[in-house]
Amino acid sequence: MSDEAYDVVVVGAGVEGSAAAYYLAKRGKKTLLLEQFPLPHSRGSSHGQSRITRKAYPQDFYTEMMHEATDIWRQLEREAGWEVFRPAGYLAIGEHNGVFLKDNVSSLTRNDAPFQYLPPPDFRRRYPMLAYPDNFAAIVDTDGGILRADKALLAYQTTFKKYGGRLIDGAMVTNIRRGNIITLETPNATYRGRSVIICPGPWASQILRPFGVKLPLKVIRICVLYWKERQPGSHHASKLPTFFEENCCDGYSIYGLPSEEYPGHVKMCLHFGPEIDVESRDQVDVKWVIDLMKTYVRTHFPGLEAAPSIMEPCIYTNTPDSHPVIDYLPGSRNIVLGAGFSGHGFKLSPVVGKVLGQLACGETPSYSLTPFRIDRFPPQAGL
Ligand SMILES: Cc1cc2nc3c(=O)[nH]c(=O)nc-3n(C[C@H](O)[C@H](O)[C@H](O)COP(=O)(O)OP(=O)(O)OC[C@H]3O[C@@H](n4cnc5c(N)ncnc54)[C@H](O)[C@@H]3O)c2cc1C
Repeated sequence: MSDEAYDVVVVGAGVEGSAAAYYLAKRGKKTLLLEQFPLPHSRGSSHGQSRITRKAYPQDFYTEMMHEATDIWRQLEREAGWEVFRPAGYLAIGEHNGVFLKDNVSSLTRNDAPFQYLPPPDFRRRYPMLAYPDNFAAIVDTDGGILRADKALLAYQTTFKKYGGRLIDGAMVTNIRRGNIITLETPNATYRGRSVIICPGPWASQILRPFGVKLPLKVIRICVLYWKERQPGSHHASKLPTFFEENCCDGYSIYGLPSEEYPGHVKMCLHFGPEIDVESRDQVDVKWVIDLMKTYVRTHFPGLEAAPSIMEPCIYTNTPDSHPVIDYLPGSRNIVLGAGFSGHGFKLSPVVGKVLGQLACGETPSYSLTPFRIDRFPPQAGL
């Protein structure tokens, strides 16, 4: 057993756990970050080159959080010494005067976030590479853009270590024993912490089972698809922002990023997929996802080839209301959970890391965590 008792032990070095560890080490807390796989790895939800960031959310509480998150991303860049955020804007696409655009406009306006509303003629004129019905409009969230996901994760972890944090990878936590000092077992060592933050991504159900906690989480396989431009450069980030359309593809939403990370290829994906067992992610039929996306691309992106050129796998952990759980574990004031980020948690991670850290230190969090409480879900049967 290691003699040291850490102020906080964080389990899971995905983006949420790494952000929490970074926040704590920066505040001078003696922090240990444990990750089950050797880093970097591509088995969870935080790998890959890019994520969308935006302030445009229909819910005020996310837009409010994104103001501070954007500032922290910039700060992290300075601390790490490399680019994490590339401004490119974010386009919310929908029916002119439809609920989706109206809700986004309201939240952006109430929270003083800059944006432009493009009525149908302006939308068509500004983005001639897109083909949407004549009544379609868009919001340009000018503070949105691209997060360089792999580099962001590395920035958190590198800076965490620079502030004195200890990161141990290849260390799966197999048992967590409650107490005033919590004990965490891994195959090679045992660690102790005054508080623990658990950010397990799609392994949440496994790690929560021994605590008698079952959440209604669905682990979803996402097909990350790239589509080749017919004319190189026509959908480059200098011409097209990141984008999202809600409930458009057989009731599912889609999102995309301009050609940038793989030159000549636009990343565009269904915001949904088949439910999986996390240990057999790739043993599932994804043909229906690709077929839906082919139809979408053919209809709305005529300048792209109508079959994906590259496919990469990733995982969402979805809650029924698409909001994460950020709360103490029932019965513990020194074990905090951050899980169920439902496919939109990357951009939020600077603020998620901060509030997880505040909870672990017994402090009042800087934001209301009411939408993220664990008890909004009734206890589930059948552990
Ligand atoms: C294809 C795709 C596109 C996305 N696009 C966006 C986007 O555009 N914008 C956005 O904001 N968000 C986006 N997201 C969502 C975002 O990436 C996730 O919400 C976020 O990465 C979740 O991070 P996490 O730390 O909760 O989970 P993970 O990244 O899965 O991290 C959990 C970590 O815990 C470790 N772990 C689990 N159990 C143990 C254990 N027992 N012991 C030790 N370690 C353990 C795992 O190995 C893993 O490393 C996207 C996600 C995907 C998959």
